[in-house]
Amino acid sequence: LKMTNFVKDSVSQTPIVDTVFAIVNKAKEAKKTYGEDAVTDATIGSLYTEAGELAALDCVFDSLKNLDNKVLASYAAGFTGNPDFRQKVIDWVLDGNSRLYKEVIATPGGTGAVAMTIQECLDPGQTVVLPEIAWGSYNLMAQMNNLEVAKYSLFDDDRFNMDSFREVCTKTMEKQDKLVVVINDPCHNPTGYSMTREEWEEVIAFLNGCSKKCPVVLLNDIAYIDFAFGQKEAKKYFSVFDDISDNMAVVVAFSLSKSMTSYGMRCGAAILMAKNPEIVNQLKTVFEKDARATWSNVNNGAMAMFVDVLDNRLEDYDAERQKYVALLKERSEIFRNEADAAGLAYYPYREGFFVTLSMDNDLRDRYHEALMENNIFTVKVNKGIRVAICSMPVSKVKGLAGHMKEILDEV
Ligand code: PLP
Repeated sequence: LKMTNFVKDSVSQTPIVDTVFAIVNKAKEAKKTYGEDAVTDATIGSLYTEAGELAALDCVFDSLKNLDNKVLASYAAGFTGNPDFRQKVIDWVLDGNSRLYKEVIATPGGTGAVAMTIQECLDPGQTVVLPEIAWGSYNLMAQMNNLEVAKYSLFDDDRFNMDSFREVCTKTMEKQDKLVVVINDPCHNPTGYSMTREEWEEVIAFLNGCSKKCPVVLLNDIAYIDFAFGQKEAKKYFSVFDDISDNMAVVVAFSLSKSMTSYGMRCGAAILMAKNPEIVNQLKTVFEKDARATWSNVNNGAMAMFVDVLDNRLEDYDAERQKYVALLKERSEIFRNEADAAGLAYYPYREGFFVTLSMDNDLRDRYHEALMENNIFTVKVNKGIRVAICSMPVSKVKGLAGHMKEILDEV
């Protein structure tokens, strides 16, 4: 007997294969069986302290707990979020580096900002351009909206693969009269690559050319930007967007999850930018309706907390965040230096939460198993093995790359 569809016919019923949580649990089991010391858990994609606990910035949660109950209880001022929050997002994220016309829509995490762009800018059957190695949710979002995906290869040696990006965009424009491209930068998940200003200039010049043929939407996912090693410097590339053509829009997807270490509070924003205010207003009108029709309101307490931290606790916030930026630097340097010494290959890392070893998927599958047999738990990504230095204390990072290379040589 074939069960009839209780969900819409067009949606795939294949369950999510959550590769991360399955391995996280295996790592937990191994710790119980063999003890903490015997196990290397490189699976968790959140920032952890040297003591092995989830990092939760004091200034952030002090602020939250200090808010009036009525602020926490309240709906937001509107479906696009509170005006002071929206202004603060522009000030904090863009840091004075953009002269484009702009609007902000508060979203539940960066996920909300990415999802509404993918959902509302393309029609079913059209193609979204994604990086070949990427955060898994992009592909799922495309699937849920019946979109095709076209993937650009990320690297040409240790540089952004401009040729592949060009080729994939050009092919996509042969099939449709709209171009929507996702670039996750800086601190790309999972490789830790950050594009140079020159690379951004090349991307914008190329997309401007594309925009002579059709409207272009650049979705720039900046989820990890506040942990970029350059900090304020890392926000300067936004000024490159000032040179976009009149037939192009940029959506910047911002997330408080990482910036404020408030993953579970589900707050973020989509910054909509263009030369032409009419483009921004068109996006805003539709995105606002999408927001109202799906989540309606964004967490009011999280928005108020963000404003309070930046208005009244900025020094503490900078100091606390910098401490973790320094830790990421230390952990990544140890891992990379040892990987270099051992000859363990990884994608070009500049900064961010993860280092990813580069290999084809066949080898990756065998290697991932072999690592687990040695009580080293990592996450498989397309063409690589993700090592979450964000959650590993320095003591665990030390010696890891060499050990991983030994295991690789045996596979
Ligand atoms: N973009 C990337 C690349 C991510 O890795 C994540 C979270 O892991 C997000 C966006 C969105 O996270 P959130 O919805 O919690 O803001």
